[in-house]
Amino acid sequence: MDKLEIVRCLRLANDLWAIEGANLYSIRAHSLSADAISDSPLSIGEILSLPPGSIKGVGRETLAMVTALQEGGMQALLQRLHVNIPLSCAELLRLPGIGPKTAHALVHQFGIHCAEELNRALQNGSLQGVPGIGSKRLARLRRDLRVFLDRKHSIPIALAWPLGIQLVELVSQIQGVSRASLTGSLRRSVVAVPEIEVIAALDNAGPLTEWAAQFTLQKKTSKDPVCREDLSKNSTDPISGQSGFNVLLPVHGDDIPVHIHTVTEADYARRLMETTGDQTHQAVISGLLMQQNIEWNRDSLQVNSEEEIYALLGLPYFPPEVREDNGLLCTPSRLIQPSDIMGDLHVHSTWSDGSLSISEIAQMAEELGYEYIAVTDHSQSLTIANGLTPERLRQQREEIAEVQKHTPVRILHGSEVDILADGRLDLPDDTLFELDLVIASVHSAMHQTKEEMTERILRAIEHPAVHIIGHLTGRILGRRSGYDLDLNRIVEAAFTHGVMLELNANPNRLDIFEQPLRTVKAKGMLVPINTDTHHRGEFQNINYGVRMAQRGWLYQENVLNALPYTDLIEALHRPRQSP
Ligand SMILES: [Zn+2]
Ligand SMILES: [Zn+2]
Repeated sequence: MDKLEIVRCLRLANDLWAIEGANLYSIRAHSLSADAISDSPLSIGEILSLPPGSIKGVGRETLAMVTALQEGGMQALLQRLHVNIPLSCAELLRLPGIGPKTAHALVHQFGIHCAEELNRALQNGSLQGVPGIGSKRLARLRRDLRVFLDRKHSIPIALAWPLGIQLVELVSQIQGVSRASLTGSLRRSVVAVPEIEVIAALDNAGPLTEWAAQFTLQKKTSKDPVCREDLSKNSTDPISGQSGFNVLLPVHGDDIPVHIHTVTEADYARRLMETTGDQTHQAVISGLLMQQNIEWNRDSLQVNSEEEIYALLGLPYFPPEVREDNGLLCTPSRLIQPSDIMGDLHVHSTWSDGSLSISEIAQMAEELGYEYIAVTDHSQSLTIANGLTPERLRQQREEIAEVQKHTPVRILHGSEVDILADGRLDLPDDTLFELDLVIASVHSAMHQTKEEMTERILRAIEHPAVHIIGHLTGRILGRRSGYDLDLNRIVEAAFTHGVMLELNANPNRLDIFEQPLRTVKAKGMLVPINTDTHHRGEFQNINYGVRMAQRGWLYQENVLNALPYTDLIEALHRPRQSP
């Protein structure tokens, strides 16, 4: 067990201990010990070798608990604390307004051991007379639970994708695994997934089984099948006869559910396509194969790659991103690719809240092989982000001109100007018209009504200096749903006024997304795919943007920043130079 995992177990045990009625003073002391271990630069081995009390807050009892954990796992630790309730009970404390006393009553009087059971009890009305939960509180709890369960059962792509890629690398290197890949909805770049799915072709299951067995946190004690999970155990699905492992991966104090499909090498390609889905795509493909008397099973369909499956049907390879809805009507060779991207049109510098200077931005662009880059800092009302006044924008223009002398990359001077609450822009018109590129975005007053927010954005679209609306819906994946907007009216107005809707490639946003992308493509509008980079590593987010663009069926010719520089400048030409 590494230190992170030990601290996580200590905290989890402490929560359960609180539910079981331990006194507040002891709970607080245990919590501080866990913090002290977490903050200490020493390894667990080093901490255990020191005399008790050498680290403030880490006394004899804490060291004994850590030893118990290392020797006997979570069960040993809980025994030490005389805690005898399922681990899943701890999540009750994560619901707003539920403290240890209420949780104790839920567990012991109502037999509720996890959020799902609580939700069910709420729905069937069996939750009456819980101490600390009156009728008003019940209504709020219902709402909070919905958000909690949604989040619990979905992992945002910003977390899932890099983890999935790491897992595939890790699994590929395990002995007995001949090849592995991401699969499931994550492979299709769906922005929130219930679990990370990996598929592995095996000639020997032993080492992978051993690897999976290290994830020993099991939620077996609860009577409820929803809470009870047989983890890290090779299971065979009774319906499909398919094998796989379920594991819970501890990441930053959370359990991330992972499913590893295990297949034979000979059946890998078929199962890769099947597990990638989606179901409709799968049904169409197997239906077409049936017409050629090929059945969707390992004996009838013997192939080495997904490409071969499509080839049997006379089809080109379809990337997973378009294997939904009518995606099979796309021409895959025309879909936008990362290598088509010629520049990035939404980047923040140290002039506002970015961490790169303009010359560093230009250098990054050169390294990425870009032909152009736009510096688009925030505007004055966003004081928290050190937004630029017209005066500072003029000074910035001089610096850009200076940097331009030393780089082949064309630097556009832009602004991400705030759309104020009433739809006015945060910079005077003459300043806006001097800029090469104007992105208008909402960063404040986000709780307006649908009507207000729609009118506000429409007003910005009507401004003749505006080229692009940034992160239109304002959604933050896993945290905040987008504003209530009349998307049809907005797309219509943007089309009329020649304003583009950004596809913000930040993996926490991916905004706009599939459906509106398909709509704007159908109208012949160009889409900029922008990283909205604030820090060096974020230029790479362009890949998330391109995958989302593929989900929106965008071709190279639909993407603004796939245009060469001269065409870009033409596309940014403003027909009207005054409001
Ligand atoms: Zn923004
Ligand atoms: Zn921005």
